[in-house]
Amino acid sequence: MTGVTAGQLVAAVEQMTGLPWPDDGRLDWEVDGLAGHTDVHRHVLPLAAVPSSFLDLADRSWGTRHRAGASRFIDSEVVWWRSGDDAVALVGTPAAVVVLPARWLAEPPAGGGVSPVVADFLSGDGERVLSSVWAVFGTRDPEVLAPLVPALRAVEEATADVELGGLLVSNHSNLEHALDRVRLFAAGTCLCAAYPAHQFYDPAKESGRRHVRVVRTVPNDRQWVPDRVCECLDCGRRFQVEQGEYHYPWWKWTPVAG
Ligand SMILES: [Zn+2]
Repeated sequence: MTGVTAGQLVAAVEQMTGLPWPDDGRLDWEVDGLAGHTDVHRHVLPLAAVPSSFLDLADRSWGTRHRAGASRFIDSEVVWWRSGDDAVALVGTPAAVVVLPARWLAEPPAGGGVSPVVADFLSGDGERVLSSVWAVFGTRDPEVLAPLVPALRAVEEATADVELGGLLVSNHSNLEHALDRVRLFAAGTCLCAAYPAHQFYDPAKESGRRHVRVVRTVPNDRQWVPDRVCECLDCGRRFQVEQGEYHYPWWKWTPVAG
């Protein structure tokens, strides 16, 4: 990759903005002889070195140069440009060009345009925080989850001292789990990975949300209800789900082979 010129790099990046997104996992590709990869949320082109005059040429190609602090999508301080709905980001160490949806890099705007879920998390009001916690529990929608990624640190600080109460289970642990879901989303991990970590995932609700489908049931001598085997509709992973009751119903999700 040594020897790539600024012009070649800009031309390669223009093609990166048109690359497809994989449903899950990682996709390797080559554009103009340059090798890169795509995960669920970004196209990454590693660079041996940033060609001289790339910044100037990028300014000419995409206009205003923005600066962003580290986000969950990008590990270091970056400069980036807007190209349509995408952001073209230049990452310093290790050097790489990363193309990702621009709205995931932009700071949440002050006032008006903040997503309602983010605003509730930052409100300092226990009831509003909890309504956001349950909204995040029940969704895989990027329109809800993506705005939370750049706001994660602010949400952690704003919710640290909020009184959330909770019977039997502290609602702060539910809050922690909701934020873990946002981290899974940011890392490009399918959100079915959250099921084994919490006992409130009702398979009936999850299948109603079109997140899983129940493929069969398995008798369980210890419980009134047979276990259900659920398949994730996004990635195909399967779980056997035991339902029990102790003060309230709980569900235990265990990954299974088939
Ligand atoms: Zn999945």
